[in-house]
Amino acid sequence: MFCRNCGSEIDDRAVFCPHCGVATSNEMQPASGKTNTMSVVGLVLAFFFPIVGLVLSIIGLRQCREKGESGRGLAIAGIVISILEIISVIVICIVYAIVIVGILNAAGGGTV
Ligand SMILES: [Zn+2]
Repeated sequence: MFCRNCGSEIDDRAVFCPHCGVATSNEMQPASGKTNTMSVVGLVLAFFFPIVGLVLSIIGLRQCREKGESGRGLAIAGIVISILEIISVIVICIVYAIVIVGILNAAGGGTV
C-alpha cells in the first residue's frame, strides 16, 4: 500500500510510514465521529420493513465493530425494534387466525 501522507510505498502491515512517520490506516482507530451508514439505514427501515431493517442492523453492528465506527447503539436499537415489530406482526396474525377460526366455528355450529 501507499502512505496517505507522503505517497511512499510501504509494507501492508506497517502501522507507521517509515518515511514520514505518519500513522497508516492499519493503526487501530478509536471510534471516529463517522457513524456507520448501515446502522442508520437499518434503524429507519426497522420501522417500515422489519426483516430488512433487522438484516441491515446486524450488518451495521458488525461494520461498527470491524471499522471502529460509531453507531452501535443505533444498530442495536434497529435490531430490537425489528424483532419487536416481527413479534407484533406474528401476534396480530395469530389473533386474526383465532378470531377467524372462532367466526367459522360459530357459523358452522349455527347451521347444525
Ligand atoms: Zn509517509
